Amino acid sequence: MIKLFNSLTRKKEDFVPNGEFVKMYSCGPTVYSYPHIGNMRAYLFMDNIRRVLKYNGYKLDGVMNITDVGHLTSDADEGEDKMLVASKKEQKTPWEIAKYYTEIFFNEAKKLNIDLPEHIVPATTVIDEIIKFVEGLIEKGYAYITTKGVYFDIQKFPGYGKLGNSIDSKMAGARIDVDDEKHNPADFVLWVKAPKEHIMKWDSPWGIGYPGWHIECSAIGNKYLGEKIDIHTGGVDHKTIHHENEIAQSDCLCGHRVVNFWMHVEFLQVNGGKMGKSLNNMYVLDDLKEKGFNPEDFRYFYFNAHYSKQQNFTFEALQGAQNALKAFKNLVVSNKNGENVVDETVINNYKNEFLESINDDLNMPKALAVCQKLLKEPKSKQVYDLMMDFNKILGFDFELTKEIPTQIKQLAEQRWQAKKNRDFALADSLRNQIETAGFVIKDSKDGYTIE
Ligand code: AMP
Ligand code: ZN
Repeated sequence: MIKLFNSLTRKKEDFVPNGEFVKMYSCGPTVYSYPHIGNMRAYLFMDNIRRVLKYNGYKLDGVMNITDVGHLTSDADEGEDKMLVASKKEQKTPWEIAKYYTEIFFNEAKKLNIDLPEHIVPATTVIDEIIKFVEGLIEKGYAYITTKGVYFDIQKFPGYGKLGNSIDSKMAGARIDVDDEKHNPADFVLWVKAPKEHIMKWDSPWGIGYPGWHIECSAIGNKYLGEKIDIHTGGVDHKTIHHENEIAQSDCLCGHRVVNFWMHVEFLQVNGGKMGKSLNNMYVLDDLKEKGFNPEDFRYFYFNAHYSKQQNFTFEALQGAQNALKAFKNLVVSNKNGENVVDETVINNYKNEFLESINDDLNMPKALAVCQKLLKEPKSKQVYDLMMDFNKILGFDFELTKEIPTQIKQLAEQRWQAKKNRDFALADSLRNQIETAGFVIKDSKDGYTIE
């Protein structure tokens, strides 16, 4: 049984899907800039859940939105339109900006070997569904029209704040000067009437405009997954407003609870603090590459912390991950032709322990520790095969780690003998042959290793 922490009930619960396919919705990127490594933590988290579900034999029906419609900078419908800001800065249309950064997002996900959802849906492709959704909410009395657009009437939904952010707490933070046409300052926008200069806009029953941000996830979830969604994921920053609003919209339209499990990944910090443009520490994968780190090193780093805890990124920690991953891969590959035989019950115990760890709310640090313990067993094909099985979760590329060919091992052995016989000329020539083939011999007091 998989146990997952549900932000809605604030408990670890047994996961039971509604139907044959696990229906999973993940909030996706706003495509106006390079996704940073904090964003990538959120997608690695999604990848982690998907792989754990598949490992347990579940079939998946996953959806992720691409926010390619500009929305206002803050969750609370204030500030500037991010896409518009980027489009002015880069002198491209918002459409070009969205296309460009959508491609970048796919590339970054690929570099990290992220298992992407079955459907990836740009918001601009579901404008009709969004309009119908908003019409439904108006019909049912949950939304109202003003001269500025259409708003969700938060007080019509007594269940508002299920994730822990009540209307009162929202009100305390809301600005008083907001739109006096709003019934309640905490009401949020579903459809915005566009000013003339606005570029991305569509016709609607309420005039030319564009959708609010929150509605896109509800409409996409509804279109692709229906009225019952098993898991919904996102970063903790979405918990306070975006997801409360999604719950309000979806549950009011459908007349029942739509999402069963809400799951949130904590933030990635940098050097113990916030990551921010002004702090000059919003790293992207290319910044890591410049300093000699592969995306896989970051993937390994991700597994070092539980998703529900903040994780602190430093280059020292990444260096640690790189070293550990290198040693890890070498150990795995060294088992490929291992000739020992490990007791089957021992192997099964490792398998169970690994499964228990991942099924315990994705305890990846523990799962990694199980792998490390397994790799201390005598070298055997069984260990290798089991590691390949575990790699369905870990998602590393072992193809890149070359196994040491028998011929090289023989040359190394001959060289060792030559050295023992004090035939240094022969030993040196054998070392040359080995190095020409791309391997390095490292001698120690009582032996040698080949890398
Ligand atoms: P955005 O494109 O801003 O909507 O963010 C995409 C995803 O990244 C969302 O799920 C956010 O919650 C998540 N996210 C943003 N910053 C961080 C961070 N520092 N650590 C982890 N997740 C983050
Ligand atoms: Zn969302």
